[in-house]
Amino acid sequence: MIKEVKFIKSSPDTKSCPEGNEPEYAFVGRSNVGKSSLINYLTGNKKLAKTSGTPGVTKLINHFMVDDLWYLVDLPGYGYAKIAKSVRSKFDKLIKDYLLQRKTLVCLFQLIDCRHEPQRNDLDFITWLGQNGVPFVLCFTKTDKLSSNELQKSLKTYKNVLLKQWESLPKIFITSTTSNRGKEEILTFIEETNKLLKTGSSK
Ligand code: GDP
Repeated sequence: MIKEVKFIKSSPDTKSCPEGNEPEYAFVGRSNVGKSSLINYLTGNKKLAKTSGTPGVTKLINHFMVDDLWYLVDLPGYGYAKIAKSVRSKFDKLIKDYLLQRKTLVCLFQLIDCRHEPQRNDLDFITWLGQNGVPFVLCFTKTDKLSSNELQKSLKTYKNVLLKQWESLPKIFITSTTSNRGKEEILTFIEETNKLLKTGSSK
């Protein structure tokens, strides 16, 4: 589990992001997907990421240092339906530039609300990640809102849609901040990955 989280900075673009070699794990998703809640749940700090119902509030790349070992990065949401297209494409560019340029990015967590049918902009984003070789995992949020049967059905639909385009599926996490689900799996994954990176780089 996480012992200490420090807010480091908010950056308007990739070149302003913190310097250093710490491995970085970023979180992204459409507005209202539950990103802030998940970040607060993972870190055990209710106020770290600001939860809000207003789309387009986070326009910056937010860096948090975890246990002096790795960065947790809160990215702006993408593909907002309710804001002007010009503003939306500016956000999208910010995220895509970050994902392509940030050398210390180890893995992107793409969040998906488990209640919805696969959404075009999520699928387009996943396709873009694949085409650009960005390492990512999927994280289904708000799973307490579905019965276990409904959740299985929803996951199956999603996987089937992905398998039309991909040979294998990315790693998938099932989370709920209300019923405490997924924290251990995600933090263990990050811990194990950091260990692998360390052994890899000391060779
Ligand atoms: P963000 O816009 O992606 O940062 O989403 P927020 O974290 O602000 O969450 C959006 C809404 O979904 C809020 O009303 C949260 O309380 C709610 N929410 C987030 N995660 C969960 C969850 O795991 N279960 C339930 N039931 N509600 C959640």
